[in-house]
Amino acid sequence: MLLVASASAQAHSVRSARTGGASVAVPKVKSFKCGTGETKRCPRGSILRLSGEYLRDTSTVIFLGRRGKRDDRRVKPTAASPHRVLVEVPSRARSGRLRVVSDDSSATSPRLRVLPKPTPPPIPTTGPLAAIFPVQGDHDFGTAVNAFGGGRNHKGQDILADCGTPVVAAVAGTVTLAKYQSRAGNYTVIQSKDDASQAYMHMRAPAIVKKGDRVVAGQPLGVVGQTGRASACHLHFELWTAPGWYTGGAPVDPLELLKALDASAAQRK
Ligand SMILES: [Zn+2]
Repeated sequence: MLLVASASAQAHSVRSARTGGASVAVPKVKSFKCGTGETKRCPRGSILRLSGEYLRDTSTVIFLGRRGKRDDRRVKPTAASPHRVLVEVPSRARSGRLRVVSDDSSATSPRLRVLPKPTPPPIPTTGPLAAIFPVQGDHDFGTAVNAFGGGRNHKGQDILADCGTPVVAAVAGTVTLAKYQSRAGNYTVIQSKDDASQAYMHMRAPAIVKKGDRVVAGQPLGVVGQTGRASACHLHFELWTAPGWYTGGAPVDPLELLKALDASAAQRK
């Protein structure tokens, strides 16, 4: 017989026993991982990964919020596999448990704290202190998989360009990391004055700046490559709110900023 973990799972196993489906595997959610890297809290608009068992047939995830149905928010998963489900935290979701629902069963998760959607750091796109588009050559923004979220917990925007195209600092600041990592490849992180930070990944060779360097917007960092986990030449660009990249900040969608910078660069030509 099945070991059941929650009231809703128990209700289900009774129901399926009645329909002769007692061997149906009951889903279970054991833990979360938010796009910010946190495990118990996640901002609205972020991608949340639910880990557990028998999750492949999840058709809906309900953010239960407080007692009662009024603040329930239903969302379709962006991906589901036996041990994980990805969902975007709905814009009006509230803290509480989540329920994963499939055709013939459901399960309730531990409690998740829902945080407000982070607001992108204010970065000037025109004027003397303007930021600069980080890829200095022909480029495009790819398709949905290259976008923030991308149905796969993608924390930045990909900028597709030929390998060897110059990469420059978009925003002035201090280099906090310049390293190699198996997924990011050759990457660097720059923290700007307001403690927001930007990350530049998959560069062909190690960054030509080093930790502690102060850089101005437009200063060369390296060239586009495909080091780390990359299937084509591109720059993976991330924008994080204060206090910065994996130091308590949250990733935000950088596409609006990038498009504004791209447009002002085109104007200057
Ligand atoms: Zn990417």
